[in-house]
Amino acid sequence: MRAAVFDSRRSAPGSWLSMEDVPQPVPQPGEVLLKVIACGVCRTDLHIVEGDLKPIRQRIVPGHQIVGEVVDGATPELPIGTRVGVSWMGGVDGDCWFCRHEMENLCDHPVFTGYSVDGGYAEYAAVRAGFAAPLSAGLDAIHVAPLLCAGIIGFRSLRVAGVERGERVGLYGFGSSASLAIRILQHWDCEVYVVTRGEVHRKAAQSLGAVWVGDEDARPPVELDRAITFAPSGKVVVSALAALRKGGVVAINAIHLDQMPAFDYDKLLWGERQIRSVANMTRQDASDFLALACTLDFRPSVATFALEDANKALAAVKHETADGPAVIVL
Ligand SMILES: [Zn+2]
Ligand SMILES: [Zn+2]
Repeated sequence: MRAAVFDSRRSAPGSWLSMEDVPQPVPQPGEVLLKVIACGVCRTDLHIVEGDLKPIRQRIVPGHQIVGEVVDGATPELPIGTRVGVSWMGGVDGDCWFCRHEMENLCDHPVFTGYSVDGGYAEYAAVRAGFAAPLSAGLDAIHVAPLLCAGIIGFRSLRVAGVERGERVGLYGFGSSASLAIRILQHWDCEVYVVTRGEVHRKAAQSLGAVWVGDEDARPPVELDRAITFAPSGKVVVSALAALRKGGVVAINAIHLDQMPAFDYDKLLWGERQIRSVANMTRQDASDFLALACTLDFRPSVATFALEDANKALAAVKHETADGPAVIVL
């Protein structure tokens, strides 16, 4: 089969992946084989190919927003032909302390799709059956693919921040994850305040109904109950913290952060304000979010690429030149 392969010894900037003919994966017990229909391209894929995330395997097929059709290894829950979505969380051990306490996102022995096992930048992918979520007919492959990471983790960020109906919520950074989060927040009758760099992002936030939009140095005109930061910047986390009411929470939606600057505890954290990171997702997050995505009829405008153009798709994510999230379509 054709696959876009990242080899940490041979990768070069701009041509991170090589197109190769590789053996089709054989599903192991507990796995299903998917014929990949579409695979979203995430900023985390860029962190992997650029070495911000340390390689786990020397060669890997990236891609952790897979929409595919079950073609082998079918189970009663996933018969042949079932259309499923697979995200970053590709498996857990099921018996560590975290798994036993409903925190499988923090599992001690996780499987990360497209990072510790091969992902969806390929014609076929073998995935753990328990981590393949059946997709309802209302969700079409190309539009649901980019929701499988940005969407689910954005949704989890709202949970980690403890957002309640009607609250004032700040979104710091306004890329694909935030533009999905705003729709959910509006569905929950929240007021959304957006702080972001770049005129294009500010306009997008305005057009999606943010009650207030400011540039990166601006402070929202009210105290926020919750804030979610999307930029990989510690400085942004501190700005968000400075906008919180007592007892408010900042949730950091970033797998990689440059550095946390020193900040004034007495002014910024005292008063039971909290800073929390958001790590991975649970299967419950995925199924709750996908149900909501169906209700809200999420259809982000996407930029599509052929598998052979996987490097172009990554470059579009890196330079933010694509008109919406990038999706590889097979
Ligand atoms: Zn575990
Ligand atoms: Zn991702």
